[in-house]
Amino acid sequence: MSSKIWLSKPHFNTTNLDFLKETFNSNWISTTGPNIDEFEKSIENILGNDLKVVALNSGTSAIHLALKLLNVGIGDEVICQTFTFCATVNPILYCGAIPIFIDSEKDTWNMCPVYLEKAIQNRLKVNKKPKAIIVVDSYGMPAKWDELLEISKKYNIPIIEDSAEALGAFYKNKMCGTFGKYSIFSFNGNKIITTSAGGVLICNNTKDKAKAIHLATQAKGIGHFQYNEIGYNYRMSNVLAALGLEQLKSLKEKIKQRRLNHIRYKSIMSSVGGVALKEEFDEKIVSNFWLNCIVVNNSKFSNIDFLNAFTENNIDVRTLWYPLHMQSYLKKYLFFGDRVAEVLFRKGLCLPSSSSLTEKDFLRIEKVFNLFK
Ligand SMILES: *Cc1c(COP(=O)(O)O)cnc(C)c1O
Repeated sequence: MSSKIWLSKPHFNTTNLDFLKETFNSNWISTTGPNIDEFEKSIENILGNDLKVVALNSGTSAIHLALKLLNVGIGDEVICQTFTFCATVNPILYCGAIPIFIDSEKDTWNMCPVYLEKAIQNRLKVNKKPKAIIVVDSYGMPAKWDELLEISKKYNIPIIEDSAEALGAFYKNKMCGTFGKYSIFSFNGNKIITTSAGGVLICNNTKDKAKAIHLATQAKGIGHFQYNEIGYNYRMSNVLAALGLEQLKSLKEKIKQRRLNHIRYKSIMSSVGGVALKEEFDEKIVSNFWLNCIVVNNSKFSNIDFLNAFTENNIDVRTLWYPLHMQSYLKKYLFFGDRVAEVLFRKGLCLPSSSSLTEKDFLRIEKVFNLFK
């Protein structure tokens, strides 16, 4: 059988690993060192706007620290997009706080501003002002930032932007990762670029950055082994930051490649009936097309028929997110919305979208689609 075509796999363009050797020779192989500082600076340069970046061991820990910096604690309510990966919501639970889920809207599949405002008004009525709102740029598609930021401002509730998947995406000429009071990227193996495991927290000022680093390094006190708050071991390793620096060199190329994948899928899909490829809904919205997604609206075949056919051909496709408000451990929390996210789960699929996909891979993918003509 032909080799497996993965959904989104790590992509190292180099066989020259001297940059790792240099790191080992320097003996800075733990959670301090020059690569960490340089990696942070490089991302600060990409984002501009005087934003400050903290390198961490995962995107999940970045979300956790963002909540901590907003003083989210036991019993606080935090609003969260339902259509996303579990790592968006779990840090709310780490804080002992209570998630409140919001449905998607149909253009971006991200948080619906209408239901967001309904939820806030509902909670204000019972004197429970939410402490934060976590919005996701899911699959690399920017959320409706104008509308969402207006609501955040109107009710004075800060937004955490989970742009784990959205490095290189733009909303009206502004980069994803710059919209939140705090924002995050992930560099897990399946993301646009990878540090094998890792993430960053993006802050608006150096004071927040310093506080985040303090919390991420066990909240060390002034004296010897004396602490006055709970800290975490969340810092990125200097070895992995070297991988990050190497990956950043080809970031533009990788984003370009993912966007080319999208164009290739457009041409495949133009001849397949009853299947809609997820598109940018407005010319000012630029997705990085981290993953390409389809919705199957076909009277003869379901998304699972497609999934099975791809699986038989050793091609990795997945359903879209199972909405968080439907997960067994999260069902008990409030949900504001309709069935947009639920229908996406029941009808959708994500397709292989690695930056290393070849034309040969696409011909195999096209062949499977042609079975459904
Ligand atoms: C990958 C991802 C995360 C978590 O990032 P890790 O680095 O894997 O911890 C959070 N949110 C979303 C939407 C993600 O895709």
